[in-house]
Amino acid sequence: MPLDPSKLRPATRLVQGGVQRTAHGETAEALFLTSGYVYDSAEQAEATFTGAVTHYQYSRFANPTVKMLEDRLCLIEGAEACCTTATGMAAVNAALLSHLKAGDRVVASRALFGSCHWIVSTLLPKFGIATEFVDGADLDQWRKALSRPANLVLLETPSNPMLELVDLQAVADFAHQAGAVVVVDNVFATPLLQQPLTLGADIVVYSCTKHIDGQGRVLGGAILSNKKWIDDTLLPFVRNTGPTLSPFNAGVLLKGIETLALRVDASCRSAAAIADFLAAHPAIGRVWYPTRQDHPQRALAAKQMSAGGTIVTFEVVGGKAGAFAAMNAFNLIAVSNNLGDSKSLATHPATTTHMRIGEVERARLGITDGTIRLSIGLEDVEDLKDDLGQALAAVARVPATRAAE
Ligand SMILES: *Cc1c(COP(=O)(O)O)cnc(C)c1O
Repeated sequence: MPLDPSKLRPATRLVQGGVQRTAHGETAEALFLTSGYVYDSAEQAEATFTGAVTHYQYSRFANPTVKMLEDRLCLIEGAEACCTTATGMAAVNAALLSHLKAGDRVVASRALFGSCHWIVSTLLPKFGIATEFVDGADLDQWRKALSRPANLVLLETPSNPMLELVDLQAVADFAHQAGAVVVVDNVFATPLLQQPLTLGADIVVYSCTKHIDGQGRVLGGAILSNKKWIDDTLLPFVRNTGPTLSPFNAGVLLKGIETLALRVDASCRSAAAIADFLAAHPAIGRVWYPTRQDHPQRALAAKQMSAGGTIVTFEVVGGKAGAFAAMNAFNLIAVSNNLGDSKSLATHPATTTHMRIGEVERARLGITDGTIRLSIGLEDVEDLKDDLGQALAAVARVPATRAAE
């Protein structure tokens, strides 16, 4: 008797979910590198186009390898339907542009991934869509902004890079009263640590580029929601505008996601240990990690997340000079603006990912010149601590005049 995949536990779903074997009985998911499909007859082609029969038509619409990934993502998220995209940004863009029209109103948390911020602040207003930003942690601001009718709420929790949380249940309640759907960018939490759909969100988006591949190889995105919204609102947009995930990348992501639970669990344990290690270090001003005692929203983290995540953010004393001295002294940790990789990566947000938003907006988000975002990979945690320890010793050697810059 075939297994009911909804009865399986998450780690099993990640490996077995959505598998469709061909007649050859291959163990690994087959890579269908094909753009088109052939029909047995002209009649079958016609019936496919009228919808009388189900048959693959064209890989901009659907592809068997991509379908396996979408089915697996549905199972892991507990969602009715999924549509993958070529990148995480294509997922955010498609979710927003398919749902919105001129005259609509969007409320978003200020602490958004840079390109998401650009879509809300710059792209949407060009099409006559009004947008308003609020401080994500401040429920009064959400309540006020959503006391008027709205069409869509976009938020990220935990946020990049300051790991600020948004109360998903509370904001979803305000949003629904205002008539808005709630779109959650769940990249930092991954589908394993936080399930926004169970907390009232309507739509969840991912950059599969991050933890789902988890090995820094391919770009990808995903949008999950109820079947009606995906079929009626999203799919016509995606199928006609073409931000489609390639079958090759879907094949890579299918193998990447098999180890998601193992990787996220290991990286979370290391990240929590590293947050404690950094907090005790004299060259560190402050550490942000959602489940630490000194995180102002630790109670909310305990309520809506099952672990603190794979990212640790900290502030080095000595501003930019201190942060650069530490980053240039890393031997193991690499300088990169990426995250969610098996290799540990350090980012200086003020000069890279958050350079364009400007000093005023950075100050509002709490990003200082000494802030470093660390994405914890799969190295031995003791080696990571050794590398951080020796690099932070370099901060102490930065001359006081440079450190004061
Ligand atoms: C990386 C990222 C994105 C964009 O994903 P891409 O795959 O790079 O297009 C969106 N949101 C968050 C939180 C991200 O980290």
